[in-house]
Amino acid sequence: MTRNLAASRYFWELTQPEIAAQFARHPLVILPAGSVEQHGPHLPTGTDIFASNVIGHVVAERMDGVVLPGGPLGVTPMHMPFEGTITLSPETYQRVVVETCGSTAKHGAKYLLILNWHEGNIPSLAIAAEALHREHGMTVVTVQACYVAADLYGHDCGGLTHGGEIEALAVLAHRPDLVHLDRIEHASDASRARKWDRLRRTRSYQPVLTDIRTICPTGWYGAPEHATVEKGLKMLNDIADAIAKECTELFRMLDEAQGGTARIERLSGAKV
Ligand SMILES: [Zn+2]
Repeated sequence: MTRNLAASRYFWELTQPEIAAQFARHPLVILPAGSVEQHGPHLPTGTDIFASNVIGHVVAERMDGVVLPGGPLGVTPMHMPFEGTITLSPETYQRVVVETCGSTAKHGAKYLLILNWHEGNIPSLAIAAEALHREHGMTVVTVQACYVAADLYGHDCGGLTHGGEIEALAVLAHRPDLVHLDRIEHASDASRARKWDRLRRTRSYQPVLTDIRTICPTGWYGAPEHATVEKGLKMLNDIADAIAKECTELFRMLDEAQGGTARIERLSGAKV
């Protein structure tokens, strides 16, 4: 994707006066959450964090916010049997998230959108989001962007699978040079993998799995061979549109119901 660098919304590409002006105009920060873990022979280890960064940037354009440097790593012990994986403990990850976003709250950021593309981060992000709301007074919405992608594109792409078409499209929309569709090999059996993936995504019963090989012995499954840059860019736009629309409404509802930051500061007795 070609991006107009003059209009960057990545926090670390902006200057201090630009950040200050942004917080004065619309104090929205977006934290991309993902991971660095093996994604088979055809996708980069940073697939999940590339996905959340590039979607976050388009959402930031739509909602007038900035994308924080949240760090590439996440919580992914399940993928540790493979060399291409680096995991943080849940405690470390929570602290990184709280201290990163909490720093911006001190400078005036009020709205926090946590945009996540890695299922292993979900419990830690829920705890961090609570802390950022209750202790730092931020109005917080978390979106599981990988599930938004599955809702919009799952039917067409064989569902959300580890290393499959949806994940290939997300990287193609950002860094097509990192996608190696010519190296696709050893996909795990999809029917077995789907059965296990479904089990860990049910609302009522939640088994804990030791490692990814229970789902897919070769580390990945799906059918990414037909993914194209054009389709990736379309998916990126559609996901960002959906997230921006829903989150704009959610922040409006939260402001109305909770009175925003001032209300939580009153409740906790903190000085404004
Ligand atoms: Zn992934």
